[in-house]
Amino acid sequence: MTTTAPRDEQLWSRCDGCASLLYRKRLRRNLDVCPECGSHARLDAPDRVAQLADPDSFVPLPDRAVRVDPIEFVDKLPYPHRLGAARTATGLDEAVLCGTARLGGHPVALAVMDFRFLGGSLGCAVGELITRTAERALADGIPLVLVTASGGARMQEGALSLMQMATVSQALAGMREAGLLTVSVVTDPTYGGVAASFATNTDLVLAESGARLGFAGPRVIRQVTGAKLPEGFQTAEYLLRHGQVDMVVPRHALRGRLAALLAAAEAGRRAPENPSSAPRPPATAPAATARPDRDPWETVRTARHPGRPTTLDYLETAFDGFVELHGDRLGADCPAVVGGIARLDGRPVMVIGHQKGHTTAELVTRNFGMASPAGHRKALRLMRLAARLRLPVVTLVDTPGADPGVSAEQQGQAAAIAENILALTVLPTPVVAVVTGEGGSGGALALAVADRVLMLEHAVYSVISPEGCAAILWPDSSAAPQAARALRLTGADLCRLGVVDELVPEPRPAAHADPGGAAELLRRAVAANLAPLLTVPPATLVRRRRQRFRRFGAARSAAAGPSPAAGPAGGRAEVA
Ligand SMILES: [Zn+2]
Repeated sequence: MTTTAPRDEQLWSRCDGCASLLYRKRLRRNLDVCPECGSHARLDAPDRVAQLADPDSFVPLPDRAVRVDPIEFVDKLPYPHRLGAARTATGLDEAVLCGTARLGGHPVALAVMDFRFLGGSLGCAVGELITRTAERALADGIPLVLVTASGGARMQEGALSLMQMATVSQALAGMREAGLLTVSVVTDPTYGGVAASFATNTDLVLAESGARLGFAGPRVIRQVTGAKLPEGFQTAEYLLRHGQVDMVVPRHALRGRLAALLAAAEAGRRAPENPSSAPRPPATAPAATARPDRDPWETVRTARHPGRPTTLDYLETAFDGFVELHGDRLGADCPAVVGGIARLDGRPVMVIGHQKGHTTAELVTRNFGMASPAGHRKALRLMRLAARLRLPVVTLVDTPGADPGVSAEQQGQAAAIAENILALTVLPTPVVAVVTGEGGSGGALALAVADRVLMLEHAVYSVISPEGCAAILWPDSSAAPQAARALRLTGADLCRLGVVDELVPEPRPAAHADPGGAAELLRRAVAANLAPLLTVPPATLVRRRRQRFRRFGAARSAAAGPSPAAGPAGGRAEVA
């Protein structure tokens, strides 16, 4: 907002977005968001702290910025003069305000940058203060929230300012090792050295509406490349589409969203001492009885029914308080995979699933639930985050298979699936997978290497689609119904083979006829299967999970008889 008088005296501001003349008090009440156009004006660090922290809870860090001039820098003015002027103009010691506070009742360490102070530049004092805030968070065992606003490193401090990117990142690495949540809130503008370190290497990156973030600024890019920049380049919405941020949050929703994330992280840390403060689910969900008379091809058709509940439907009904997290942090946000933090019977869990849709338009938007490499990498990022925060993982599998397109191949589809399978085998947190519809091949397994693998009564899980199998082996794709019978892809068959642990019943005749009833049955089954895993030490969990997937092999050792690891699938075939 453009103003002419000192803030206390000014009555009116002009919006930078739409040029409306706004009554200052009204604008302040609206958190400095223009009521006419929604433009988010830049906030001072003290105002930002006041908006985020619970009233009277902010306690500044005792450490004070030291005024340094390490390279005795002079441009038109000596650096100490500029520093002094910034101090006078802002009333701050430096370009960051650090302390501890409560946010929605949750203790948090907070470092908030102030763009007014030499463009929020990252110098030795700023780096040191943020590092000390992180160290304080580590010592207290509380999460860290960083609000960034910066043009980049402070050139007046030379290479020592560059080193701050490493210093602060190192402190964040300590938080990561300790399993403490770190969140950055990217505000406008965040560029250069801050963007390329603690604005983006936190666990979660939230971008405030209208914020721009990038390594190089648009002017530099235009100068260097001569290229015309795309519409909305480097804006929060653009970054979301390109997988760089978890979510875009309007200012009025920021506090609530942060509180929800802090609550989940806090619950994860409490979990070992207090396994469940919520009402315990029934010890076992009613197991489905398989109906052997049903033609497997019919089951395939039911599993693909467009009315069947999707992952987002289950997140609405079987879970509460879903906060979706986006992006692979590499370049894309795959719409065929959704994930985020939700509550199951009051307990925070990380839910990751394939997303199809009910209408043709939805299916096209979601690529029919066929994940790209970016989808698998998003899932991987969320699984690892869950393990760090000690949150159990629940996956909902419903995909015809991984995206088989040209660009998926170029971006390493095979390796992306492989990496997920590997990561899941050693993920130190409980994992419950539910095949809710189609469990298609490697794309399904990329989310289904779990401690407990459940399957809905009318779901299917297969190494290849019946059509694909028929086309290769008959070879005639019209033989799909015969292939469906031959592949043993129904829940009853897979329970017999030991691939699936339990069938989840569906309302009659199937889930699409009563989505609410299906969600309730799913909730009960997941809760009942998750509960016993929550008290198992992570190392034991991983050992058992590896044993679970070790038993499917088939070989006879030269010295002895069948391998003791051979399970239901073992011994059927022998390697010559
Ligand atoms: Zn406006």
